[in-house]
Amino acid sequence: MEQILAKTLLAGFEAAPAIPEGQMIRFVTTDSRQVGPDCVFVAFPGEKFDGHDFAAAALEAGAAYVVLNHPVEGVPAEKTILCPDSYQAMMRMGANYRAQFSPKVIGVTGSVGKTTTKEFCAAVFSGFGNTIKTEGNQNNELGLPRTLFQIGPDTEYAVVEMGMSHAGEIDRLARCAKPDAGIITCIGVSHIENLGSRENICKAKLEICAGLPEGAPLVLNYDDEYLRKAQLPAHVQPVWYSLTSGEADVSASAIRQEEDGMSFLVDDQDNGCFMIHIPALGRHNVANALAAYCVATRLGLPARQVIQELKNFRQTGMRQRVVDSHGVKVIEDCYNANPDSMRAALEMFRDFPCQRRFALLGDMLELGEISRAEHEELGRLAAVSNLEALVTYGEQAQRTAVTAAAKGLRTVYAHNYEEAAEALLRQVHPGDAVLVKASRGMALEKVLEIFYMER
Ligand code: ATP
Ligand code: MG
Repeated sequence: MEQILAKTLLAGFEAAPAIPEGQMIRFVTTDSRQVGPDCVFVAFPGEKFDGHDFAAAALEAGAAYVVLNHPVEGVPAEKTILCPDSYQAMMRMGANYRAQFSPKVIGVTGSVGKTTTKEFCAAVFSGFGNTIKTEGNQNNELGLPRTLFQIGPDTEYAVVEMGMSHAGEIDRLARCAKPDAGIITCIGVSHIENLGSRENICKAKLEICAGLPEGAPLVLNYDDEYLRKAQLPAHVQPVWYSLTSGEADVSASAIRQEEDGMSFLVDDQDNGCFMIHIPALGRHNVANALAAYCVATRLGLPARQVIQELKNFRQTGMRQRVVDSHGVKVIEDCYNANPDSMRAALEMFRDFPCQRRFALLGDMLELGEISRAEHEELGRLAAVSNLEALVTYGEQAQRTAVTAAAKGLRTVYAHNYEEAAEALLRQVHPGDAVLVKASRGMALEKVLEIFYMER
């Protein structure tokens, strides 16, 4: 973070003390251990610790101001900024800070593929100029302001991920980040328990338009029927990408899966055709790469170089990393899972070059009412996905196991990590491949720890 006038950073807070002219703030933190001179400390009422308990100590350690939800005894009013919601306080400061600089900001939202698409964008933009991006998955009303605080006078591009679980969140994030261009990867079913329907999820993603200026490119997935049917506000310039239709502005064809990634032809109605190979597996990553291509070219970057820079993408976290374990290829995809990403992963795996294919699938969490039906559907899908055998782990995934077994797929239902690892170790041989996927909360990497140790 760059130094900023306290008056500028703290503008718009109703319950704030008089701020001296010329006072500078060096950084903002929510962690009492990181407090130092001239910072603003924002207290969050956490589950284990309440930040308000550290407010007085923060001032002693040199904090210029503390942001509190309510007055705290012993903390002087002239150092206190009152705001009932700490997230809102972070967002306000994030917006005030961002307004000081003028990088091109790219906002990425959608039900799945945000982080991956963000990484494709960052790979591209870094080839053209100083680029900052959302670290990891910090895509909420705390992570977004933290990301914006990374911007400095030299920042030319900022790629920010925007996540949501309720209506109205993307609207707030977009007004805070003020993107110059947006991407919506797809409309899935995550958080449908909060939003009621996929139409509502689609509307919620489109809230990104609230932050986009007149004529801004909004990159949209043509293969998503909800996006295709959506009412778009007149002030944005839609840019469509597709893996199936030549009608989109940019389409991919001749898509081939290779052992280390995907090869395909990019057909851009404005800029011509290019062959490309990306180091990421699965058709969904072709889509993610196309989205990044669209946003970069529509922000005016030269197509040929954008294609070159896409090759610098690297998979992060546990998203479909391919590990060779003594001749067995393990596709670690334990980062998260929902019906859409499960489908995409199984589709990718169907053509994965290897002898026999095994899948270890765990629960898809947070699906609410549709959970049982979706886990059964996953079982049906697994049964027709060219698998040698299936191992499932988790309460919900039991439905997957039962359905898959009824459809004739050899299936083991594991009660714990050891049983799951055991079932794989018993069956796989060099030359085979294993796909491992579940929601983050299932921690399937623990099965892998055992698997790698015993092999
Ligand atoms: P989160 O909501 O956790 O932030 P995200 O939207 O950032 O998720 P990613 O982390 O990019 O999504 O991808 C999660 C998983 O979804 C990947 O491991 C991959 O299996 C799958 N995936 C990635 N991109 C797509 C896509 N465009 N369509 C369907 N599935 C995808
Ligand atoms: Mg993410």
